[in-house]
Amino acid sequence: EQESSSNFIKHIVKEDMKNGRYDEVVTRFPPEPNGYLHIGHAKSIVLNFELAEEFGGRTNLRFDDTNPLKEDEEFIASIKEDIEWLGYEWSELRFASDYFDEMYRQAVRLIEQGKAYVEDLSQEEIRAYRGTLKEAGTESPSRSRTVEENLQLFEKMKRGEFATGEKVLRAKIDMASPNINMRDPVIYRIQHATHHNTGDTWCIYPMYTFAHPLEDAIEGVTHSICTLEFEDQRPFYDWVIEQTDIAAEPKQIEFARLNLTNTVMSKRKLKQLIDEDYADGWDDPRMPTISGLRRRGYTPEAIKAFCREIGVAKSDNLVDVRMLEHFVREDLKLKAPRTMAVLKPLKVVITNWPEGEIEWLDAEINPENPEMGTRKIPFSREIYIEQSDFMEDPPKKYFRLFPDNEVRLKHAYFIHCHDYVKDENGDITEIHCTYDPETKSGSGFTGRKVKGTLHFVEASQAKAAEFRLYNRLIDDEKSGDDFLDFVNPDSLEVTDGFIEPNMADVKPHDKFQFFRHGYFNVDPYISNKDKPVFNRIVELKSSFKL
Ligand code: ATP
Ligand code: MG
Ligand code: MG
Repeated sequence: EQESSSNFIKHIVKEDMKNGRYDEVVTRFPPEPNGYLHIGHAKSIVLNFELAEEFGGRTNLRFDDTNPLKEDEEFIASIKEDIEWLGYEWSELRFASDYFDEMYRQAVRLIEQGKAYVEDLSQEEIRAYRGTLKEAGTESPSRSRTVEENLQLFEKMKRGEFATGEKVLRAKIDMASPNINMRDPVIYRIQHATHHNTGDTWCIYPMYTFAHPLEDAIEGVTHSICTLEFEDQRPFYDWVIEQTDIAAEPKQIEFARLNLTNTVMSKRKLKQLIDEDYADGWDDPRMPTISGLRRRGYTPEAIKAFCREIGVAKSDNLVDVRMLEHFVREDLKLKAPRTMAVLKPLKVVITNWPEGEIEWLDAEINPENPEMGTRKIPFSREIYIEQSDFMEDPPKKYFRLFPDNEVRLKHAYFIHCHDYVKDENGDITEIHCTYDPETKSGSGFTGRKVKGTLHFVEASQAKAAEFRLYNRLIDDEKSGDDFLDFVNPDSLEVTDGFIEPNMADVKPHDKFQFFRHGYFNVDPYISNKDKPVFNRIVELKSSFKL
């Protein structure tokens, strides 16, 4: 196992357990249900679940649904599905909104202790009073309110006597703190909105930074792992934990979020790609969402292996998206049957093959995994090859088919091109070849060598299929100010071609390696029996090296 950076967090946990700070390791994965999970979330999921697992602990799934405006049942369902699909089992399923009573009680306690006050200033005024990094903040006139007055006002906020945004509750900490987050942060706000879970029970809602430490404490979380942008919030997290009368003492630990080349990861941006029709939905195979990757054909094993390999660091970095692709190739290499598919067909007539006769050839399913056995593939007078595998007038080093050249057909025979047919537009419609019976694959023929090996599908038995080939949705090579300037307009190419007849009964999510084309997944939604649809997961080769 690799120790590397991956795991300064593991090291902290080990120390805590050795020192007896905690009896059990409890982590949580706390998504806000305002979108689908993406590959960045996978990093956090793998980290939280596997860390707890390693120490015999447990992990809660907690929906951080403290914002009534953004949450959606569809997102909750998709998040659960994605975590289960990755293969993790949460210990308890929680909703932050289940703790609203307790959070309110904690806020009242703070007021009673003189550690929170109701603020009349507007959001802009609060910001102006807060000061800058160089200058201390200014105390608000509201800061000197009495406990009684604050209790009454907070009660009125709760009862709905004020409009949205009219008042907030602030923690009373230190307006001169060098950490601006400690300058009396807002902990409750008014929002007249219906909440998906609590309905209209509340019109005041806790701020995320106040709610999160309380949620962790309520659940007995020991290690609350979050991304680096919360580092400056840690003193406030600790402050909240210190004030509360809940016994638990969770510890916040920050790590660098995953950034990938050619990928936008924030839910807000992903939503924008959908809203503006650059993608067909959260599970579009071009999206870096877990559901998009799944539909594309990624496996949980590949995603998890990738997340483990990148490890966790304390400073931001950018990971090459080709590394993710590397792991899906690695995972499918031995698992996926290798078959032949012609994506852009061109007909070849074998002129010396008897009309109407079919030979069924033996072909191994995966040379790197002989246990997968063999399959039968047909060969006859008419076959399809790729359009790009023939050139009338080839450049040097073109080793595929051209007039008077000979190539090998995978699992079959050598064929020699002696003629071709063009239509009135000058497009090539048919190639004429002869085959040499002596060159049959597996016969040990060594009489002469050819430089090219082509794949093919026999025409009479071929099954029609659709292939969806993806390019990067976000192209880092472009330039612009807005991320939408980087959207690649040619990220999807759809072609009609043929697959081998033995693949007639493919099912959603069946995965194949098509000789020379890469790995493909049967689309779970648009594929059908008459015409299967294959998403290209990844091409076979990459210049990327791990
Ligand atoms: P986004 O900005 O994409 O909406 P978020 O952080 O707001 O992400 P949450 O639903 O709040 O999304 O995140 C749930 C958990 O996933 C958090 O603990 C968060 O730190 C983690 N997470 C989100 N994005 C990444 C990422 N790119 N890399 C690692 N962890 C992430
Ligand atoms: Mg968020
Ligand atoms: Mg966000």
